[in-house]
Amino acid sequence: MTHYLNYIDGEWCDSEHSLTVMNPGTAEAYATIAEATIADADRAMAAARRVVNQGLLSDVRPAVRTEWMLKAAAAIREMVDEGGLVACRENGKSLQDAKDEFLESARYFEYYAGMADKLEGTSIPLGKDYVDFTQYVPFGVSVQIVPWNFPVSICARSLAPALAAGNAVVIKSPEISPLAMTLLIQAIEKAGFPKGTINLLCGKGSVVGSHLVQHQEVDQIVFTGSVPTGQRILQDSAQRATPSVMELGGKSAAIALKDANLETLLKSVQVGIFFNAGQVCSAMSRLLIQKDRYEEVKAAVVEMAKSLTIGQGESQPDITPLVSADQQARVLEMIEQAKADGANILTGGYAPDLSGYFVAPTVIEATPDMRIAQEEVFGPVLVITPFETDQEAIEIANGTDFGLVAGVFGGKLNQTLRVAQQLRGGQVFINEWFAGGIETPFGGVGLSGFGREKGQEAIYSYVQTRNIAIRLQQDGDV
Ligand code: NAD
Repeated sequence: MTHYLNYIDGEWCDSEHSLTVMNPGTAEAYATIAEATIADADRAMAAARRVVNQGLLSDVRPAVRTEWMLKAAAAIREMVDEGGLVACRENGKSLQDAKDEFLESARYFEYYAGMADKLEGTSIPLGKDYVDFTQYVPFGVSVQIVPWNFPVSICARSLAPALAAGNAVVIKSPEISPLAMTLLIQAIEKAGFPKGTINLLCGKGSVVGSHLVQHQEVDQIVFTGSVPTGQRILQDSAQRATPSVMELGGKSAAIALKDANLETLLKSVQVGIFFNAGQVCSAMSRLLIQKDRYEEVKAAVVEMAKSLTIGQGESQPDITPLVSADQQARVLEMIEQAKADGANILTGGYAPDLSGYFVAPTVIEATPDMRIAQEEVFGPVLVITPFETDQEAIEIANGTDFGLVAGVFGGKLNQTLRVAQQLRGGQVFINEWFAGGIETPFGGVGLSGFGREKGQEAIYSYVQTRNIAIRLQQDGDV
């Protein structure tokens, strides 16, 4: 079994204890990784602090950071095949989706490379006796906590803008699925960033993660993960009033209006809820269907779900395993609870007889108040519900504590736009779930969190504004 290491102050470091990483497709142990300790975390934070204090990243001409970022992007592109295979085996996702995580990571570096030298402040008129301007200043040491569902691309999503803005970074990878992230950092290491700029630690969230977010050297926290962990981190970081970005969960709804194109809708439903076995924060976990078309759309969605292939990621199936036995058990438990609550399982709802952690693609008819329609499942489980009027659909869609994304499918632009503008969430798709990309701002409202990632806007999540106000002297040199 390959043994993976942590990256601290420019060195790959082993540890006394290891964590075992499973292959979710076979339920067998796949590799081990050094389990970072509190002392490792302290060394990583000290290295990042040194880079910040010496201005090794923030004080260079921004175009130098652009150059490093572009070199990193090129190295990530060379890592696509090797890294993709590791990501597929440790996470269970399809090989192509695993490779896409590296390709997307390269795009983040290319995109934010172009912004490193465009963080321009403003000049504020205060009359002839004053000169006033703003500067964007990096936070300093950015602690970034990453989840297991897209560990590589989510890592790059926060790391790239943080570096472009001039921050040093300490990353905490997830205990499940941390390996491909080490290959991502191996690629980025080739770009020439100053030693200590990027540090990667794999350790337990409750130990190393918790230590990092409360560390005296932390200047910013970027957390992507579940609501309970995000709430815990907000409490823990309150002591130091550390600014944070919170990218949390979702229970996002698509509204199918009566003139929605069925083929377009079905494509979006398939990718929306069954991509990555539904382990996507912005998954289409609810589909609201207008009553006139309810039976027709319901039958088509169930037929599509039944037709999907199930298998290990390397065989490029439609449905891949869940990431862990725990995650599989949680999803099955939520389905059982739905049955007990009176929901109607239209297809799926069971674990196929395979060695990995699979759950069959599941479609459940449920009312909006049921737990299955309110809580994040994080599995291949779609909840469908009928509605009569646009207003009713909007109320059901907005009727959870979350607000990450939403969608509207219909044939009339005026109507879809009118509905879209009333939906609660950071991003609303019209006629294509996951429309948008790394260029479009992404983030939540309510329990889905705050702050934005992706797009030009995200780089401003990694800087603070400093205002310089100058009173011109009447005589003599200033
Ligand atoms: P999780 O909250 O269990 O863990 C996320 C990370 O937090 C892991 O690295 C974990 O080790 C760490 N952690 C745990 N306890 C900690 C603590 N006390 N202090 C600091 N760090 C701690 O989430 P998960 O199960 O890995 O990921 C799934 C969740 O992430 C889902 O709810 C999903 O919706 C959400 N998610 C959100 C987005 C987004 O962009 N909004 C993207 C992907 C996943």
